[in-house]
Amino acid sequence: MSAVVLQRVPGYPEAMPRILLVEDDPAIRAALTRGLTDQGATVTAVDTAVGAMKALAVEQPEAVMLDLGLPDLDGANVLVMLRATSDVPVVIATARDDDAEIVRLLDAGADDYLVKPFSAAQAMARIRAVLRRAGASGEESDDRRIVVGELVIDPPARTARLAGAELALNRKEFDLLLALAVRAGQVVSKRELLSEVWQMPWGGADRTVDVHLSWLRRKLGETAAEPRYLHSVRGVGVKLVDPAGGGA
Ligand code: CA
Repeated sequence: MSAVVLQRVPGYPEAMPRILLVEDDPAIRAALTRGLTDQGATVTAVDTAVGAMKALAVEQPEAVMLDLGLPDLDGANVLVMLRATSDVPVVIATARDDDAEIVRLLDAGADDYLVKPFSAAQAMARIRAVLRRAGASGEESDDRRIVVGELVIDPPARTARLAGAELALNRKEFDLLLALAVRAGQVVSKRELLSEVWQMPWGGADRTVDVHLSWLRRKLGETAAEPRYLHSVRGVGVKLVDPAGGGA
């Protein structure tokens, strides 16, 4: 009986994002640190531009929340300095509801902005959105990957992730998942799977495919009774689908 083993994948922008918060107002800094931490982020908070540049190098944050009015340097200058060395997503926090200024900052490389006052929940939603965009463009650039819903399979690396967590699959489980993923949305017969994954002829009573399918289901966190990705079609075979219905 195999256990479900989930590993966090470094750099994957879903669980526990590391956020650098640059804010000189102690009350706002404390409230945002608490609010973002409550929502699962790991927050490093600094109150100056110099502190921000240091923390950027040391902490390697996945996203930056940058206040524009800082004591030592204007946040717009911090943005330019930061963009010279890093592609990290940046959400600007501004007290100025000034269209021209906001356009200038977006052109200078900010990914999004929030006008004060805003809640930690709003800040977290913007950060998640910029992280998703950053993650999505990263995936598009690697066309060897197969993406079915939240399932991402990397054939050259022989790894599979579900919602960012790496699945601990043995060799045959991975081959089986891959054989289904390359034909996502299509029913594949067990005879084909046995031949393709195990290089074995169909033996009628052979339960190899069924057993591995049940292990794979367990690792995907689903059951035959309540399928999400793996759907058995009685008497025909099995297909892998995007449970959100987005197709393959
Ligand atoms: Ca400020």
